[in-house]
Amino acid sequence: MTRLFMACLSTETNTFSPIPTGRTGYEAYFLRHGTATQEPANLMTESLHLWRVQAEALGWEVIESLTAIAEPAGLTTAATYAAFKEDILNDLRKAGGADVILLSLHGAMVAEGVEDCEGDLTQAVRELCPEAIIGVSLDLHCHLTQALLDASDLVITFKEYPHDDATPRAAELWDLALRTYRGEITPRMALFECRMIGIYLTKTPAMAAFVARMQAEEGRGGVLSVSLSHGFVWADVADVGARMLVVTDDDAELAASKAESLGRAFFELRHDVTRRYPDMAQALDGIGTDAPGKPIVLADMSDNSGAGAPGDSTFVLREILDRGLTDVASGLYFDPMAVAICRDAGEGVSLSLRLGGKTEPASGAPLDVQGRIMAIREGCGQHLGPGLEPMGTAVWLRLAGNVDVVLNNLRVQVYHPEAFTHLGIDLARKRLVVVKSTFHFFTPFAALASEVIFCATPGRVSPDMQALRYTRRDGRYWPRVDNPFDM
Ligand SMILES: [Zn+2]
Repeated sequence: MTRLFMACLSTETNTFSPIPTGRTGYEAYFLRHGTATQEPANLMTESLHLWRVQAEALGWEVIESLTAIAEPAGLTTAATYAAFKEDILNDLRKAGGADVILLSLHGAMVAEGVEDCEGDLTQAVRELCPEAIIGVSLDLHCHLTQALLDASDLVITFKEYPHDDATPRAAELWDLALRTYRGEITPRMALFECRMIGIYLTKTPAMAAFVARMQAEEGRGGVLSVSLSHGFVWADVADVGARMLVVTDDDAELAASKAESLGRAFFELRHDVTRRYPDMAQALDGIGTDAPGKPIVLADMSDNSGAGAPGDSTFVLREILDRGLTDVASGLYFDPMAVAICRDAGEGVSLSLRLGGKTEPASGAPLDVQGRIMAIREGCGQHLGPGLEPMGTAVWLRLAGNVDVVLNNLRVQVYHPEAFTHLGIDLARKRLVVVKSTFHFFTPFAALASEVIFCATPGRVSPDMQALRYTRRDGRYWPRVDNPFDM
């Protein structure tokens, strides 16, 4: 019987963050052994659900190993990574290998002493199973390395940011892996470094057009798959930056030339696909005081815990309170201590609370507020595409001026208005909704907003690329230099 082995290991490591990512960080978010597909799908397990269904329909045996997902923070501890890796390898040994191995990995995981966890893990899997077809699915915020490509047969990244295409990409990887297993195709992969470091939102016209251009190349002229890894900018690793990946059917030269031509085409678009963001004062100056119609949604980009920020920074809320803005909703504030206090106090109680500003220096100072506990909800979730992401216990705290704040005890960015509406907050009645996220919130919030403002707030993951200092890669990248290919 044909055997499919699959596993998932996912976190996006912000090497500038002082918060270590240990086993507790994975347990808090999603840690299952062999049972992830018994749970509702989240972003990184959508692929596992699909692969299981496809393989079982063919009568294959499915061996499901570890799924470990942590909200991004600093380096994964050496012991945690070693234990997860050994767990997966042990399962593979116990199974006596597999015919097809599919891994759902993030691609930007860094552990203490291991800069390229995905390359390291996949190499170890390859050593155990030299003959297996190995396919890897990655978030596009990854560091695509030659080590990973050398160890695998197929690599595909998401194409969309927000990542609403996890399932179609998993389906493509399944299809290509199956055709490879059946001997119908022989994948050859090549990378091209685009010499760009930035954040690229694929719902903007220039990026949407480029995604369409990549897709138009697929499935013709010997090209099987095209992926653009955007890179994860808050990581001081040798392979940080955008890369073009092309997979062809048994044509290494075509893979290399197509990766280069598409990679250079992306570089030519650098000014069109890169945005400039207003700072906090500029953004808040535009918030009027007249009667609210549809709310303005403001992204507190630099406190996106999904990129490793603390998720409890107080810069924007302090400014809102200082300006006396009313009819505001703001979340999610990661504050387990305040949540515990509110749980003890109970719904309907008014109290003084020290809010936020606790996790790390980029959190800013805590805010001392007076508020009323409007609602407490246990075990909330919020959708990111079809997947449901956990948000732990959430508390709706109302401050003066109908400023509604949502605190929770699980570090996670805002993906969906459910982060507010689950508690009973009516966003349509708000003048301003502040979300701690970079872009994943965009689609469902844009549907209810009069305007979406992406704001370069103070914080750990500021979109100011010029402020980032890398020691592990060369300086030949845009926007650090104008013409990195001429150096
Ligand atoms: Zn991502």
